[in-house]
Amino acid sequence: MKVINQLKSLKEELSFQNNQSIGYVPTMGALHQGHLSLVKLAKKKSQFVVASIFVNPTQFNNKNDLKKYPRSLENDLDLLNSESVDLVFCPSYNELYANEKIVKVDLMGLDKTLEGSNRKGHFEGVIRVLNIFFSLIKPDFAFFGEKDYQQYLIVEQFAKTFFPKLKIISCPTLRESNGLAMSSRNRHLNNREKELASEIYKTLLYCRNNYNKIEINKLEEICFQKLSKFSKPEYFEIRNSKNLSKELSSSSSLRAFVATKLSDIRLIDNIAMN
Ligand code: AMP
Repeated sequence: MKVINQLKSLKEELSFQNNQSIGYVPTMGALHQGHLSLVKLAKKKSQFVVASIFVNPTQFNNKNDLKKYPRSLENDLDLLNSESVDLVFCPSYNELYANEKIVKVDLMGLDKTLEGSNRKGHFEGVIRVLNIFFSLIKPDFAFFGEKDYQQYLIVEQFAKTFFPKLKIISCPTLRESNGLAMSSRNRHLNNREKELASEIYKTLLYCRNNYNKIEINKLEEICFQKLSKFSKPEYFEIRNSKNLSKELSSSSSLRAFVATKLSDIRLIDNIAMN
């Protein structure tokens, strides 16, 4: 496994990959089995697998959150090596953004709701960094977790316009045995908090079991109430899973989305309703 920090070396290394299909897994490090499930799928679908580890400052709307984001590079590299990743790219902020060409993207309103309205500028930062990574790495496939379902939809919309040959592939959410969605941020939770955090998935399951028995607005309200043990529940919303709108006709596929704070840690999760 090659570990590369500089853009020049990355370009050189990729120039040797003539005609092999490239699968790309972007990450912010502090890796867990959820990340590795993306890598495993990338290994299956592509001949050369690139992962990146980069805590992207432009997608953090809160300086303190960026500062305390967990970092464990050595362990991350061991994990990626054990999955036989071919190349890991860990650039510096200055070099990565030095020649950035900012693009204007119409995300069809997908970025204006849920995480978009609760974390101003977050998706703009995600698109900025992925635009750079996709341009440098030129992958055939890029892998994203359903854990961040809204991000997956946004990246798919972005790629359609700017990287039409790139296939964006979504991967199911990996969970702890108590149902809590794996997340790098879980490292900040103690055992008691992890147990409480498992209520998020239980609430999502309750929602899925009841969405055709209880009127949707009422159900959202009940589920939001169920999160009252958390320090700051932000939203519990049932949305159309194609466009995240409130068009919830009986024929549309639906998804429930939740965001809540526990102590100081912000947790998000979602589930398909049908
Ligand atoms: P992050 O390092 O948090 O930016 O995540 C990198 C990628 O891993 C994103 O595509 C996430 O959606 C995905 N991911 C994070 N947590 C999980 C999980 N529990 N299961 C599956 N994929 C995940």
